[in-house]
Amino acid sequence: MAAISRLLRSTTSIPYLAGKSFSSAVASQAPSYNTPFLHPKPQFPRKDPRDRNVQWIFLGCPGVGKGTYASRLCKLLGVPHIATGDLVREELASSGPLSAQLSDIVNQGQLVSDEIIISLLSKRLAAGEAKGESGFILDGFPRTINQAEILDGVTDIDLAVNLKIREDVLLEKCLGRRICSECGKNFNVASINIKGENGSPGIMMAPLLPPAQCMSKLVTRADDTEEVVKERLRIYYDMSEPVEEFYRSQGKLLEFELPGGIPESWPKLLQALNLDDYESRQSAAA
Ligand SMILES: [Zn+2]
Repeated sequence: MAAISRLLRSTTSIPYLAGKSFSSAVASQAPSYNTPFLHPKPQFPRKDPRDRNVQWIFLGCPGVGKGTYASRLCKLLGVPHIATGDLVREELASSGPLSAQLSDIVNQGQLVSDEIIISLLSKRLAAGEAKGESGFILDGFPRTINQAEILDGVTDIDLAVNLKIREDVLLEKCLGRRICSECGKNFNVASINIKGENGSPGIMMAPLLPPAQCMSKLVTRADDTEEVVKERLRIYYDMSEPVEEFYRSQGKLLEFELPGGIPESWPKLLQALNLDDYESRQSAAA
């Protein structure tokens, strides 16, 4: 499990895939915005925005809940939710061309390179397009400025949603994570209720409690200690700042501070995205 989480915190520390034209092409060229630098041409969709669904990315530190919000939005908008963590897990579980290489990387405790991640993502998007999918929301990608630049070279991103939450709340949330040792489901025992003061709003987040049969089997992940969580956040902020700046400079960054748990945050997020009457507009148009 520790190996997997190391793997998912990917950076650029391992060599490119030997003999793979995709990655060697990436390796040999600096990222560029307009030139197709990959050979063979990647199968990323690059279409007129009017002819396709949204192409968004979700940024946000570990524990902020981007997976939850990304997945809800995907259901609403009818686009695939593509989480790079899932792609890595799926490839590892498959007999795909990268799985042997990936398991070597994991077993040696190394980090997965941007190029492998891009390659998995490219494959996923191509498969989706072949099935008639349009648009996507990416979750967990791009994680580094290098990934952002590569992505920019191969597809158009309309919007980068940066989910944020007060750090004290985040820390409490992370420390409240529990996993059921029997069924493997994730829960959260933190119950956050901070009163507003000096004009700043309060924040409430309900715990996500397990059903009775899991209650006595809850365990805390070894890497959910205060020290480790803080270190994880520090690494995240260092890595994500240039990524945020990259999208900010393109006028594509939407900063969204979560005002609480899902019941408080979801309607406000929809407002911020101009989607608050999306469902009624859709049914009116139908
Ligand atoms: Zn359970």
